[in-house]
Amino acid sequence: MKCRVEGGEIVTDSLEFFLADTCNLACEHCASSAPLVKKANFPDLLEFKESLALLRRVMRSKQIKFLGGEPLLNKDIAKFLAAAKASGMFERVRVTTNGLLLDRMGEEFWHNVDVVEVSRYRSGENALADAPVTRIRETAFRLGKKLEVVEKPEFFAAVVDERIPDPETVARVYADCGEAHRAPCHTLYKGKLYRCSRVHTLDLRLSARGVPHAPFTDVDGLAIGPGLSADAVRVYLESPEPLNACSFCLGTSGRWLAQRQLSEKPGKKVAFSPDLLQQAPGLLRRMRERVLAR
Ligand code: SF4
Ligand code: SF4
Repeated sequence: MKCRVEGGEIVTDSLEFFLADTCNLACEHCASSAPLVKKANFPDLLEFKESLALLRRVMRSKQIKFLGGEPLLNKDIAKFLAAAKASGMFERVRVTTNGLLLDRMGEEFWHNVDVVEVSRYRSGENALADAPVTRIRETAFRLGKKLEVVEKPEFFAAVVDERIPDPETVARVYADCGEAHRAPCHTLYKGKLYRCSRVHTLDLRLSARGVPHAPFTDVDGLAIGPGLSADAVRVYLESPEPLNACSFCLGTSGRWLAQRQLSEKPGKKVAFSPDLLQQAPGLLRRMRERVLAR
């Protein structure tokens, strides 16, 4: 993906930030692997502010998107939203949530958020009911905030618990990855910038599963420091080389599967199979041939 450069600054559509790595739901095929993460790993507010101050010198984004895991599990969420607003780096502040805790959000939260995106999952006993959705709509309307309720009957298969055996497949999935290139989900995490949002949670997931892998969180990001240049950000974001994490990831090429809650955390290991990929001209056939030839 070619970065947009304006006045010497990199301009991106979105920057993502995890406010919690855990979640109060346990969706199968959660792209953030939240059901496998044991600790919330709440971020440090000061580190967040410092990273934004450094990043602001070389980059800005149309929006910052707070997510997780479930971001509303973070009791300091309003402080992070306020810090993002104060940074001057974003045109709008978005929170993506499963909505279960939205009723509890106070004035400071609503004051600092611009868009609340509720991913609505109807499976499982904890599904968000109609009554709270109505209340949330009323609150957002009264305060002049945008509310987007997105029904999620399906998920695409996102990550796997074994290395994808074929480097050609890894390269193709990466080249077609909407997270990295089309609707970029560039992510800020612990003082580093990542091309996509799956790196650190996939690292935690594989560690929880006992799967040998490279330390993605350490090696796949770009450190944000005083010497960071716009050119270094551009080169990192535009790189045609897959990340180490891509060897365990289906990007946005995974098959659509019915959304459901796991009856038990962390759920079964997800083995790699070409069947987990969407039908794509030539790709599935070539992979089947390779698997059969193994
Ligand atoms: S609501 Fe589901 S998909 Fe979203 S973070 Fe939680 S477990 Fe993952
Ligand atoms: S790990 Fe690679 S394939 Fe997966 S979302 Fe990130 S960039 Fe895309």
